[in-house]
Amino acid sequence: MSDAPLVRGWCPDLFAPMQARDGFLVRIRPPIEGLDAGQVQTIAALASDHGNGTIELTNRGNLQLRGFSRDSARLAGRTAIECGLADPDPARERKRAVLVSPLAGYDPACHPDTIAVARKLQAALLADDRLASLPGKFGWGVDGGGLLPVRAISADLVLQAGQDGWSVRCGEVVTEALNEAQAVNAVQAISFTFARQPEVKRPAHDANITKKVLEKAGLQGCLQSTMPPTFALPVGKLPGHRVGLGVPFGRLPASDFYFLAKQQGEDRLRVTPWRNVIMPDKTMDHPGFIMDATDPRLRVEACVGVSGCERATEDVAETALALASDVPPGCVLHVSGCVKGCAHPGGADMTLIARNGRYDVVRNGCTKDIISWGNRDLPDIRALLSRELKEIQA
Ligand code: SF4
Repeated sequence: MSDAPLVRGWCPDLFAPMQARDGFLVRIRPPIEGLDAGQVQTIAALASDHGNGTIELTNRGNLQLRGFSRDSARLAGRTAIECGLADPDPARERKRAVLVSPLAGYDPACHPDTIAVARKLQAALLADDRLASLPGKFGWGVDGGGLLPVRAISADLVLQAGQDGWSVRCGEVVTEALNEAQAVNAVQAISFTFARQPEVKRPAHDANITKKVLEKAGLQGCLQSTMPPTFALPVGKLPGHRVGLGVPFGRLPASDFYFLAKQQGEDRLRVTPWRNVIMPDKTMDHPGFIMDATDPRLRVEACVGVSGCERATEDVAETALALASDVPPGCVLHVSGCVKGCAHPGGADMTLIARNGRYDVVRNGCTKDIISWGNRDLPDIRALLSRELKEIQA
C-alpha cells in the first residue's frame, strides 16, 4: 500500500476534477428525477470520446468518469452544464447534492411527495448563499421509505418520511415529525449552523455535539440507531413497472450506457447509492447487467485498484470476484485497495485491506476499524470466510 497521505474532507466534482493514476476524474450529479436518454447518451459520449470509456456509479448516486486530460475535464464540465447536468456556479453545484429514494414516484409505498419535497429542499439550498462554507462532501437526502425502507439512504442531513410528517435525521439524532415546509426550513437552518461553525462542519459521531448543533438551529432531537435497516438490493423486478439492474462493482463500459439510453425511451434512468441502476421494466436483458438478486457478484465490493489509483498495489476487483462464491447469501465482502475504503465506506461482514499481495482482515467492520487478522494470504482468507461468515449467518 502507498504511504501517500489520505486527502480527507474534499470531494472531487465537475469543477474540481481530481488527478488519479489514470488521469482526471470527473463526477456528475444526476438531476433529482433521474437522467433522460439524451443525458445518458451525452455521458456515454464523454466517457468514450474523452475518458477511458468506463463509467462508475458512486455510493452517493453520482456518476464518475475516468481518464480525462485537464482540457477534456473542462470540456466535460461545459458539456454537463449545457445539457442540464450541472449548475454553472460551482458553489451552487455543490448544493445540488440531494440524494432521493431511487424508487420515489414509482413505489406506491414510498411517500408520494418525496420528489416534490426533494425539489423544494434543493431550491431552498440553492437560494441560500450562507451555505457556501459547507465542505464539498456535505450532502442531503430525502428518504420516502417504502420497499427501500426509511434509513436505507444516508447523507449528512436526511428528511425522512413518517406517519406524522417529515423528521430530520442528523447523524444519530432525529427531530420530531414536522410539516413539509417546517422540515425544509429545519434542514436549511441546521445546514447554516454547520456552515458557520468554526470546526465541526458535518454531523459528528458524538451525538451530544450533534444535539447542540440542533439546539443552535432552534430544534430538539432524540437519539436513534444509525444501523441501516436490512433490505434486499433493488435488483430484478421492482414496483412501478421498474427493474433494477445490478452492475458489478458499479462500473460499466460506455457502450452499456448507450444501450440503456436506447432502452429507456422517454423514461428516466436512476442511479442508486448501491451502485446499480433503475430502469423501466421493458428493458431487455443484457450480459453486462445482473438481473438476479442472488448473484454472488452482488455480495462483493471493490475499488478501482491499481489500474486507476496511486494508493493501490493490486487489482482488488479481481480478488473480490475470485472470492465471491465463498461469500454466503446475505453477507458482504469488501476488498479495498487501501485503508480509505472508497468502494464501501460503511461496515461489511468481512473487509479486506490489500497490502502488496496480502490482506489485513476486519470482521464485521470497515477499513478503519481494528484489524481482526493481519497479513493473510488468499488461502487463509478463504478459510476465514468459510468459518466466520457461517458464524455471522447462524
Ligand atoms: S480505497 Fe482504492 S480507490 Fe480508494 S484510495 Fe484506496 S486504493 Fe484508491
